[in-house]
Amino acid sequence: MVTHPNPQLVELPKQPLSARNLVGGQWIAGSEPSRQLSSPYSGEVLGTIHPASLAEADQCVAAASSAFDAWRQVPAKERAAALLKLREVMLRDIEKLSHSAARESGKLVGEARAEVLKGVEVLEFAASLPNSDLGGALEVSRGVTCEYRREPLGVTVGITPFNFPAMVPMWMIPISLAIGNSFILKPSDKVPFTATLLGELIQEAGFPAGAFSVLHGGREIVEHLARHRTVAALGFVGSSAVARAVYTAATGSGKRALCLGGAKNHLIVAPDANPAVTVDGVVTSFTGCAGQRCMAGSVMVAVGEVEPLLAQVESAAAKMRLGLDMGALIDKAAHTRLTAAIERAVRDGATLRLDGRKCPAPAGYPGGNWLGPTIIDNAQPSMQSACEELFGPVLTIVRVKTLDEALALERSSRYGNALSIFTTSGAVARYVADRASSGMIGVNIGVPVPREPFSFGGTKESKFGTGDITGSGGVELWSNRKKITSKWGLQPDKNWMS
Ligand code: NAD
Repeated sequence: MVTHPNPQLVELPKQPLSARNLVGGQWIAGSEPSRQLSSPYSGEVLGTIHPASLAEADQCVAAASSAFDAWRQVPAKERAAALLKLREVMLRDIEKLSHSAARESGKLVGEARAEVLKGVEVLEFAASLPNSDLGGALEVSRGVTCEYRREPLGVTVGITPFNFPAMVPMWMIPISLAIGNSFILKPSDKVPFTATLLGELIQEAGFPAGAFSVLHGGREIVEHLARHRTVAALGFVGSSAVARAVYTAATGSGKRALCLGGAKNHLIVAPDANPAVTVDGVVTSFTGCAGQRCMAGSVMVAVGEVEPLLAQVESAAAKMRLGLDMGALIDKAAHTRLTAAIERAVRDGATLRLDGRKCPAPAGYPGGNWLGPTIIDNAQPSMQSACEELFGPVLTIVRVKTLDEALALERSSRYGNALSIFTTSGAVARYVADRASSGMIGVNIGVPVPREPFSFGGTKESKFGTGDITGSGGVELWSNRKKITSKWGLQPDKNWMS
């Protein structure tokens, strides 16, 4: 076992981990062939995933459906109390959870801690729903009252990506459960272990058997759940191609679905940008989680003469140390894909300003999937690195003369997750925010993630479906509004409705 004095990297577990399925309150090893997973830091064996069969998925859905019948009858305040208990045990075990998320995804422990806390924030929002989302009633005509109530949908499913093993599941689980649904999590088959911890904590918090379940597997099980007759609604977060396919399958079989996809986020830097704020914002954005996040800024659009600022971005990124300031890539395939993209950018005529392939791996971790911050300059907008999602610590710089050119570039992207503008002018910030096509806009912030109760979601191929996830968008996603119109007597002054 490799040990490392660096508190940002997690040691391998003493015993190999085992990712089993939570079906009807019981942890079972799935009967599909099991598979070993290795540490992104070192390549050593982390543990084994035991995927479920389609028959086991059916058992899971049936158990979730029975649990729903009882869970929906539990008063909303009691459901919220279970969520508050979950918050307590998650915060008690925050180190265990964040170490787990870091260990399997390759990120730094500090980054993983932040994702757990963001998940807890969604939980806090969900637990507040009985006090904030009370329904509504109005006398709409003489003696006639219209009322609406929120109703759960039934069995709901969440399919999540590898890059946030704790946070993205927690974007969905608390709100869906708070409303009274049962929830089945199908985590990424690259990071199945944090889902086990979440399942154990949800059990400890007192949720009834079957209200929350975990199913492991890949494409087959996702397609099965997306078409399953008993599943009422589905949330998906992952790459755009899969998001589109899952959305099509789910909505084609009559389900409500919201499927978030990939991204190519633009960081527009105006000549008047504050250097310290911009350098920090840009570098944090493209290197955080080793660039493996859907909010990572990956194209810097340099407007006019900003060369001194680019030099500062390069020098700050060049100082970053792998294992201390930046984590690892998820797997060897990601490393191969990214190094090929860097070579292609150079072949296509761009300039390699900072080459992350030369960045040394942290001592003791030679077998990990390490790639340092990489900056590609003088790219043309049509080049692969300027328009395709690479999902790694690679910043591509495209130089333009005007703000309108920068905006045209952003609007022509097939993705629409996030855009950030760096400027000291309120008028410039407003001009960009008004015209950009992305769903989430940052002003002097490189990662403009909306915090609760604001919802998270992009546009174009970054999102298939209407509404957003988390916050008030999550409430709409996982519920129906039932409308009740009542009259309790004949009104002497009756009008057209009464
Ligand atoms: P992915 O699309 O490969 O996998 C996502 C989920 O789908 C996983 O649970 C996986 O097991 C399953 N899956 C994979 N291939 C499938 C297939 N062919 N059919 C059905 N299911 C399949 O994504 P990933 O590599 O795990 O995550 C990275 C991607 O997720 C990036 O594109 C990133 O931008 C995106 N992402 C988006 C957001 C957002 O909010 N928009 C957030 C996080 C990540």
